[in-house]
Amino acid sequence: MKWRNHVDIASSVARELSLPPELRGVLKAGVLQPDREGDKVVRLDRNALPYRQRIRHHHPRRRFIMGLLWKARAAHLEGREEDAVWCLGRALHYVQDGSVAVGPFHIFHDRREEELGRRKAAPRAIHLGGEYALPSPMFVSMCLRSLTPKRRTRDSMFQACLLSSALSSAVLSPPWPSEALVAETRRAERRHRLVFLPLAVGAAITAATGLLLLGQPLLLPLAALLAAGIHRSDLAYHHYLRERRWFVHAAPASRTI
Ligand SMILES: [Zn+2]
Repeated sequence: MKWRNHVDIASSVARELSLPPELRGVLKAGVLQPDREGDKVVRLDRNALPYRQRIRHHHPRRRFIMGLLWKARAAHLEGREEDAVWCLGRALHYVQDGSVAVGPFHIFHDRREEELGRRKAAPRAIHLGGEYALPSPMFVSMCLRSLTPKRRTRDSMFQACLLSSALSSAVLSPPWPSEALVAETRRAERRHRLVFLPLAVGAAITAATGLLLLGQPLLLPLAALLAAGIHRSDLAYHHYLRERRWFVHAAPASRTI
């Protein structure tokens, strides 16, 4: 996408969220940062040696965007609003570029970018994104999973606006959880403590005893694996733990910029 598109969408999102003027400026600067300086991630080559690879803008890794959004959320919970909006802006850049199909060998890329440059942000998509956003990491992850490159510039713009607005609302939502989430998390923790943990320990002890009686001490790690499997199988518990993390302050962290 052109810089003017990134800035236009960021301004519309900032208006929708009623961000103060200084944070609007940070959001606009953040949304342009990946084109100005680029982001790099550390990868391992065939010989397991680390190297730094530039993040691709039109096919970004969802995990990388999710990481930026978690950083933004953590900063928001700690009251570091500038850091939060800066990281959010960087994540939105990849969501917006990822909404544009480039075609094989970038054949249609330049023409589409030119056409997009003449388009304005879609106010309806901005409004819908803000209205239906949920303060939940599962919602954020579903938004990112729905991110697909679109061939028609109209669709690209609509998706970029919708997801930018929804993700911004989810990340900058109030830092306290709903009563329902608190209650559900407590219930899930209690069930896990009373049912799944004793089950996991019991199964591990039984399996370990059986293996020792059979004279197979080398297979003892299987008992630990069985316990871990039972612990992991409590999907509701792990779901609510993850949802609660959206509202939990991390230990005072270094600045995310
Ligand atoms: Zn870009």
